[in-house]
Order: sequence, then structure tokens, then C-alpha cells
Amino acid sequence: MPLQEYKIYLPKNEIPTSWYNILPDLPEPLGPYLTPDRLPVAPSALAGIFPQSLIEQELSDERDHKIPEEVLEALAIWRPTPLVRAVRLEKALGVKSRIYYKDESVSPSGSHKSNTAMAQAYYNKQAGIKRLTTETGAGQWGTALSIATKHFGLDVRVFMVKVSLEQKPYRKVIMNLMGAEVFPSPSTVTKVGREALNKDPDTLGTLGLAISEAVEEAASRKDTNYVLGSVLNHVLLHQTVIGLEVKKQLAIAGEKPDYLIACHGGGSNFGGLVTPFIPQILAGDKVKALAAEPESCPTLTKGSFTYDAGDTAGFTPLMPMYSLGTDFKPPAIHAGGLRYHGASPIVSALLKSKLIDATAVSSESVFEFAKLFANSEYVIPAPESAHALAATCLKALELEKLGKPGCLVFTLSGHGLMDLAAYQLNIPQND
Ligand SMILES: *Cc1c(COP(=O)(O)O)cnc(C)c1O
Repeated sequence: MPLQEYKIYLPKNEIPTSWYNILPDLPEPLGPYLTPDRLPVAPSALAGIFPQSLIEQELSDERDHKIPEEVLEALAIWRPTPLVRAVRLEKALGVKSRIYYKDESVSPSGSHKSNTAMAQAYYNKQAGIKRLTTETGAGQWGTALSIATKHFGLDVRVFMVKVSLEQKPYRKVIMNLMGAEVFPSPSTVTKVGREALNKDPDTLGTLGLAISEAVEEAASRKDTNYVLGSVLNHVLLHQTVIGLEVKKQLAIAGEKPDYLIACHGGGSNFGGLVTPFIPQILAGDKVKALAAEPESCPTLTKGSFTYDAGDTAGFTPLMPMYSLGTDFKPPAIHAGGLRYHGASPIVSALLKSKLIDATAVSSESVFEFAKLFANSEYVIPAPESAHALAATCLKALELEKLGKPGCLVFTLSGHGLMDLAAYQLNIPQND
């Protein structure tokens, strides 16, 4: 019998050459970003921390954005990424549905975050910026950015949420290896950080506070800009390479997807997979897009749609989004990338207009299916990605009960080889 190929590869020259911008295709225009007094933020007000090119992308009404040559070359280090039919998982679940995963774990950082890290480092370099600041939760974004700044020759300072740094000390080792400076947040190097430590010396830190620290520092230095790994429109734009490739790969496989599923922290890997399919959903296609979030940080399923700040101190503009409130303190679950109070304005608008759906999954089912995936596909998913996996498996089981198997595609946003402490806690160990 001939050996069967279950991975769908694309040749190098099939890397998308343009990103897809959903803004002109949204049913209603996104509300403007607002100042604390609820006045629209002038684009020039963002210029203190972002380069002009990214501000233009943030507000653009052009559908296609050509990917610069240097960024394409950087992406080609690992892209296109494979789309994999998870046949052994299907068998382990006992379902007739076809389950595929888009493997973003093959990037240099081990997650999809490298897609936007490379682009943002490039545009800041072009603008003459020497140094970047950012926050990182679980450390994937800091890792991706450290590699991207190494690639494009920039310095970088990373504020890593304290509890995550304690849980994942090896993330700092990688970032330091790549030449980045890493501080636990709250830190003593910023005013907001010192204030937070004065108030509560034992604070675990939050992503919202780490953003405040990174923004404060970028705003106070001319040679320094701030970069964000999720949430913003331009970040989702850079992530559309995921969905654009998936479309081509499904066509090669002769598949029409019934479900597109990704986990949701700030919305970038979900938006990257799903937005390229929205025009066909608007045209009546029945494919369903499903965002998977943790029950313990249920921004999309339990949050309210409102104008809220992206950070704790309120340095960022107010954005129209689903939010649990800036003072929401998520429990220290081991999916650091999903511990965020807010959501991307684009994903929020899509949910509000019912073009997508959201589901919350329990941490028990996340690790149950992560184990099943590891035991059948022999890949250890990042705990964040395991939320998408769990939602996919639950949906496949539901379809099986209904006698309606289908085609389900989820994003494996990252691998879990840096998250073994979470597996140690959640999967029984012998002594
Ligand atoms: C950061 C991260 C997420 C969550 O962020 P999104 O912007 O919602 O994609 C999910 N998975 C992995 C592996 C991550 O690193």
C-alpha cells in the first residue's frame, strides 16, 4: 500500500504576498479609538509610540497590503506552515469528522507570534527606531520579538508578568540569549511599576500593568517605540498569512471547512485564521468561526461590549471591545497568553454582528484533550492552543452524536515544549 501523506505543504512561492485587511469589509465601521474624555484619538497622537506605517495599517481601508520584500524573506524562514490532517486524533476520538490543524508551532519562536514580530520589527527599523519595548505574558511574544529584533538589528526591553516569569524562567533565558533585556512586571524601572509595587509588594502582575510599563517607557524616549503582540488591527492584519495559506491548503485537500476554530487571548491567531474567510461568510457560506477561551477568563462569552482601555493605568486609548474590565485579575492559569481582560476590536465587532461565535472551555477538558493529542499526534500543544484543540474535539464529538460529521480546522498556535510545568501540574506524574 502506498504511504499516505497527511501534511499539506505549500511551496515557498505560495507564501501570501499581501495581507488581507478586513476593515473595509466589516458590516459596520469600527468605532474610533477614544481618549479618556471620549474624544476620537488623532492618528498623530499615536506617533509617539508607533511608526507611521503601522498607524496607517491600523486605520486603513485598503483591502490588500503588500508584504515588503524583507518581511517576506523573514517569513520564508519557516513559512508556509503545514496544514496537518489529525487522522490519529480522529481515530482516538472515534469520530468520522475530518480534523485538520494549521501548525504555527514550526516558527523560530514556536508560536504564531513570529508572523507579526518580524513585520513590526521591520517597520520600526525602517522608521529609524533603535529600541523597542513590550510586555509579555507567558513569554511567547517576548520570545518572538527578541528573535525579530535580532533579525532586524534592534534592541528590545521586555516587561514579563511576574507570575509568568516565575512559572517559566527558561523563557527569560531564551530572550536573554537573543539579546533582549527582561524585567519582571511590576518592575522598579517605571513609575507605574513602582506605584504598583508600593501598593502591593507581592502582586503577581497582570498583562494590563506590563503594557502600562512598556508604554510609559516608549513614550518617554525618542529612540524607543512600543510594540504589541495582539489585539490591534495591524497585528491581526499580519496574522492573516495563516488563513490565506489555509484557504489554499484546503483547496488542495479538496475540502470545504465547516468549522474554523482558534483560541482567543487578544484575538490575533483567531483573527489571522478567520478574517480571510469573512467575505465568503458574508456572501452566505455556512462555515462557522469559533473562538475558544478559558472559563476562568471569559472575555467574549461573559464580558460586555464597551469602550475600555487596553492596560491597567489607562495609557492606551479606549477601544470598542468585549472586556472584563481593566481591573479584572485573571487567576494564574497556565495559559498565560489567554489571561487578558480585553479583546481585539475586530474580533469584538465580528462577534457583536454574529459573524463568529465564542465558547469557553474548562481547564480539565483542555488538559484531557491535550493529553489525547500528545498521545495520538505526538505533538505537545501550548496550553493556549489546547483550548482550540479542546473546542474542536468537543465540537467533533457533538457532530458525531448528531450523525453529521464535518470538516474542522483549528490553529495549533504554538507548541508546549516550554510549558511543561503546566503539564506537570495538570497531568498525573509518577513519583
Ligand atoms: C499569545 C498566544 C496566544 C493568544 O494570543 P492571541 O493574540 O489571541 O492569538 C495563543 N496561543 C499562543 C501559542 C500564544 O503564544
